[in-house]
Amino acid sequence: MGIPFFFRKMDSKDMTRSKRLYVVLCSLAISFVCQGQILEAEKGVRVGTQLATQRTGYSGTGYVTGFDTDGDKVTLTVDLNTAGVYNVYIRYAAPFGEKYNFVYTNNVNLGTVHFAPSDTFREILVGKIFLDKGSNTIAIVKEWGYFELDNIRLEKTVRSEIDHIATNLVVPNPTSEASALYNFLSKTYGKVVLSGQYGGDVEFNRIKAVSGRTPLIRGFDLIEYSPSRVAHGATSTETEKSIAWHEQKGIVTFAWHWNAPKDLIDQPGKEWWRGFYTDATTFDITKAMNNPASEEYALIIRDIDAIAVQLKKLRDANVPVLWRPLHEAEGAWFWWGAKGPEACKWLWMLMFDRLVEHHQLNNLIWVWTSSASPAAADWYPGDNYVDIVGADIYLPAGTYTSNFLMFDNLVSIFGGKKMITLSENGPMPDAERLFLEQAAWSWFCTWSGNFITDGLSNSSAHINTVFNHEYVITLDELNDIDGIIADLDERRDALNDDEVVLGIEDPATTKINYQNPIQNNRLILSPKNGQRISKVVIFNVQGKVEFYRETNENKNSLDFDFAHKPSGMYIAKINTSTGTRFIRFIKP
Ligand code: CA
Repeated sequence: MGIPFFFRKMDSKDMTRSKRLYVVLCSLAISFVCQGQILEAEKGVRVGTQLATQRTGYSGTGYVTGFDTDGDKVTLTVDLNTAGVYNVYIRYAAPFGEKYNFVYTNNVNLGTVHFAPSDTFREILVGKIFLDKGSNTIAIVKEWGYFELDNIRLEKTVRSEIDHIATNLVVPNPTSEASALYNFLSKTYGKVVLSGQYGGDVEFNRIKAVSGRTPLIRGFDLIEYSPSRVAHGATSTETEKSIAWHEQKGIVTFAWHWNAPKDLIDQPGKEWWRGFYTDATTFDITKAMNNPASEEYALIIRDIDAIAVQLKKLRDANVPVLWRPLHEAEGAWFWWGAKGPEACKWLWMLMFDRLVEHHQLNNLIWVWTSSASPAAADWYPGDNYVDIVGADIYLPAGTYTSNFLMFDNLVSIFGGKKMITLSENGPMPDAERLFLEQAAWSWFCTWSGNFITDGLSNSSAHINTVFNHEYVITLDELNDIDGIIADLDERRDALNDDEVVLGIEDPATTKINYQNPIQNNRLILSPKNGQRISKVVIFNVQGKVEFYRETNENKNSLDFDFAHKPSGMYIAKINTSTGTRFIRFIKP
């Protein structure tokens, strides 16, 4: 499209497998009549920044400059009548050359925005963000700094459509199990998120201990079946473990950290076992691409055939596989991406033909791992070779954003024709935000080791909340899926319809003991007549969820701590054994 985008990578703490943060914000120069809501920078709350008027052409009464020390920022507040999706535009000047700065919404870092050089004020489109009803903040925070902020403009828009995904798998004559899995994914897409975790007992035991739950998807890796690792004595039981997982009704996904077939550098820091990294091998995929008679070509086929042996075991055990080879290629940190998109696409199609046509592997659902950069479409193997598009997102420890911006970008880039999934993550997204924002990732799958065990990337409280959230499907919930989806649909309707939430207020019919419901900063709900509470959602008057509580025990009393909630009116939606009730009440 010729639009100046960029994407930024950030190293994580993982020991052996580099994980990068994909944060992508597009910036598109525009020039048309301004509409929507304009937030003047000079009216914002400044920290370390200054007002200025020297440069002509600003809107309002000036602009903000002086982004020169880490932490310098300006925060703008906007009150919105409706929650939803907004285009964010930034008007700026960058007289000292191109610059990057952070954009935060509601204290969540959306990533870095590129500001092309400009001696005059100009406006760029940052992308789509989700904003809440009521008060929201947007902050511009110094990263590189040295630019001038005139205003931010918000324009109501709509999310990209996700309801016309492909109905058939790309593999001809897929196994009935593969079709059934794809149909299940299609049915749940946009309704719930399926929980997933890479690794084994350590990771699963941790989640079980903290939340009492077991993820539905388990991530495996064919890495140790790579012939250049087997030659060094590597062994693996991932195939057998994945068959056992399938027999427990779990869903299987496989990645393949493909150790390069040859040309391993094998020096300190570039050891043979790091041979899937570009920096640890000189293997050149283009030598194979340009010469089918080459040794490189023969070795690629040898390796794919070795992997096919494992995948056939899965096929013969009726295990469908969410198959995710050649992942994160665009980042180029793995050798299969090091020579650019054409070579990588060639390798994907070669693998596809070899596994599907030659080896007759029809139990695979092909998952391509993309970014949302402007080059993403150039890397994409094509609609006939891909069933699902994933993104691997590693945000800083404890950052639980929904990644709505990235999700919506991916839907848009791939035309809504493929399901979009969070194929790997560090911190898990906040489940309530996924639901509210409709960041409709099909599944998430947290990477192994520290990402789930260190209490930092994902805190224990966060693990507990996510895995027990109604929107998150765990292994034990497969038989309840229709009821869960119906319940969430009902809740979404209530959220989207203020009349329903605000209109029912008859204390005589609530059958809830609501007399002076808040005492000593606590709200205690105790239904009469032996009713039992299964779920309570408490909103503020802007429709923002303040409490969300589900209980499997059908409690007859629940209490909520309002000590740190502002005074004002709240609405509680209460599911009891006899139906759904709404009450309205005031915290003094
Ligand atoms: Ca201004």
